Amino acid sequence: MDFTDSAPLSSVSAPLLSGSTPKQEDHYVASITDEHETTCWGCGLRLIISPYAPVFKCGWCGAITNHNAHKQDNKYFWWRRLRDRCFVFILLLFMLFIIGSGIWAIYPVIFSVSYFCGIFHLTVTGILSITTLLTYVLAAFRSPGAPPLITWGSYPSVGRGGLDDYNFCHLCSKPKPPSAHHCRSCGMCVLDMDHHCPFIGNCVGAGNHRSFILFLISAVASTFYVSVVSSYVAYKIWPPLRHIPTTVLTKSTVLTILTEYTFSFLISVEYLPIRGFVLIYLFFASVSVEIGLAVLLWQQLSYIYEGKTYLSQLSSNSNGSDEVEEKDCQNIVRFFGCPYPATRCVLSFWNSKKSHKK
Ligand SMILES: [Zn+2]
Ligand SMILES: [Zn+2]
Ligand SMILES: [Zn+2]
Repeated sequence: MDFTDSAPLSSVSAPLLSGSTPKQEDHYVASITDEHETTCWGCGLRLIISPYAPVFKCGWCGAITNHNAHKQDNKYFWWRRLRDRCFVFILLLFMLFIIGSGIWAIYPVIFSVSYFCGIFHLTVTGILSITTLLTYVLAAFRSPGAPPLITWGSYPSVGRGGLDDYNFCHLCSKPKPPSAHHCRSCGMCVLDMDHHCPFIGNCVGAGNHRSFILFLISAVASTFYVSVVSSYVAYKIWPPLRHIPTTVLTKSTVLTILTEYTFSFLISVEYLPIRGFVLIYLFFASVSVEIGLAVLLWQQLSYIYEGKTYLSQLSSNSNGSDEVEEKDCQNIVRFFGCPYPATRCVLSFWNSKKSHKK
């Protein structure tokens, strides 16, 4: 590529004022004072900018230089990393404890109902446990998606628009694509970053977003299953109520009967085996976790449906930009990896049925 033809100074657009090669700089920047000169970090061309433009975009490669961005201190990185990993380890142990205590509390009762019923529930539990643990480990330990390596820093190898809207990350010392964000807890730039999740001790980004959503789906299904089965088994093993009210039900005595039943119910807890207390704990823990995870899953699916991430939603709110993304179920289909639009699959199936009829 001939430089003089492909990168003339006149091609450099505002707010960038000009760019030049070492050969040409004498001719072009002779009358400009030193403080107006700078070098584009992306292509290495000399640029002449206004002293009042701390942020500017190179007219050749499109890289954005921000003189206000300085190398930040990241001295607590290893401490944050250790804290995140310990939390993941504790959560994994907690999940194993819940699965183990659930099996201990529920299955003897389920198998006493019927052998077939026991085998069926054991299979469901096995599938849900393995799926939840596997997707959790994938979301927690998979790389959230580092930006692809790209050539930068020298003119002939960086073409026109080759680094369009790229910033320079001073913490990674690498070019940062427009859709990437630097996470200080993970110590890296993350492509299509959604958020840093303390529960998986990792960022949710292009590399593990699908695993994270699958984990949420699996965890919501598992907690729903545990809440239903534990309440059924608790009902089965609950000791008989000792204070059965004998009063004839009338409107005026409803409150009295309710009080008597509650009292009788509470007294019967005294005769509840340890298994019953474990079941009560499992029920309340699973219902509360289920509500929290279901809200998070709903929010995540809404963002995917709108073609956004949590961070892009935040930045569009703060910029006040009324950029409207296409809201479409295809966004969800694409997210889960279907290479063809679902409607096309359905249409081709429909057409093949028609041609068979002919
Ligand atoms: Zn440049
Ligand atoms: Zn970075
Ligand atoms: Zn992170």
